[in-house]
Amino acid sequence: MTADLARPALPLRPELAGLEPYGAPQLDVPVLLNVNENPYAPSEAVVEDVARAVADATRTLNRYPDRDFVGLREDLAEYLAVESGVRLAPEQLWAANGSNEIMLHVLQAFGGPGRTALSFAPTYSMYPEYARDTSTAWVEGRREEDFSLDPDAARAAIDRHAPSVVLLASPNNPTGTALPTATVLAVLDAAARVPGGCVVVVDEAYGEFRRRGTPSALELLDGHPHLAVSRTMSKAFGLAGARVGYLAASPAFVDALRVVRLPYHLSAVTQAVARAALRHAPSLMAQVGSLRDQRDALVVWLRERGLQVADSDANFVLFGTFDDRRAVWQGLLDRGVLIREVGPQGWLRVSVGTPQETAAFQDALTQVAGLTA
Ligand code: PMP
Repeated sequence: MTADLARPALPLRPELAGLEPYGAPQLDVPVLLNVNENPYAPSEAVVEDVARAVADATRTLNRYPDRDFVGLREDLAEYLAVESGVRLAPEQLWAANGSNEIMLHVLQAFGGPGRTALSFAPTYSMYPEYARDTSTAWVEGRREEDFSLDPDAARAAIDRHAPSVVLLASPNNPTGTALPTATVLAVLDAAARVPGGCVVVVDEAYGEFRRRGTPSALELLDGHPHLAVSRTMSKAFGLAGARVGYLAASPAFVDALRVVRLPYHLSAVTQAVARAALRHAPSLMAQVGSLRDQRDALVVWLRERGLQVADSDANFVLFGTFDDRRAVWQGLLDRGVLIREVGPQGWLRVSVGTPQETAAFQDALTQVAGLTA
């Protein structure tokens, strides 16, 4: 038999056979409200500062970057102290190319063959992919009807599966639900009893959008060396294109991530961009405040029209339910508004845009779903 030279047999891992890469459609549409980006492009002041920082970094691009990105870690610690009131040492911070890579580092360090990662559905659909890519078994508990997490159910799932990693998104994607401190403490407590140990990652990618009075799990780091809190500059900082995520944890947790990272994984350009943007945190956080207000107004608007809306602490809103959500999604797209068909059956997710974008979404939805204007 002659080998098929045009299509050589590749030794693909069997669990990857036939799989498509993850990702929402990237369509050229006037109103993009599908991937929870910040709708505001960087201001001219940010653009100028970033451009200058990149130019400076370029002058030494013949050299490898600072492998431990000490300056960026110091700046992130300063930022978190202001944002959440929690003061951390630079050794407690880690950064990578998006919080996606942060999670991969976590699974590489604490997951692996023979080990299990656990989360509670519906939740961020990348989690099982990190598990798959690190040959970690994946198990899912369930959230309640209102997308909250029952502490007893969480405890029972951890006791039953004895995972080495628990991933908790708070605020959760795609539901927007933030976890109360008591629930995170219940999970930490159960995790501490897992034979062999278990780390808990609270994914606060949308943390800055939490409503007033909603706590950050950063407050629990002290006294919980098996806890990590991940954040990103993709959302609140409007820097999705730069790919900067970070994590706060005990120094021992961070040391484990340092073992599995690729050498020089965070480029000098990325470090420079992140540090320049962090200098503009005050004005960017003011913008976050206005997005929060727009989010709350959108929740009210949808509820006034009789729709079900999940309480949201994020920069997006999950709403429904529709007998044919695909038709609603398509109808919006036909009117130039791209949202996301994600979450439990019948629900749709829309990101908070500029006031003009939100108005375009509201107009389109009014037509498509026959709502009262
Ligand atoms: N966690 C959650 C819950 C998310 O929704 C996202 C982005 N959609 C991420 C992590 C990853 O963000 P990034 O890699 O851009 O930091």
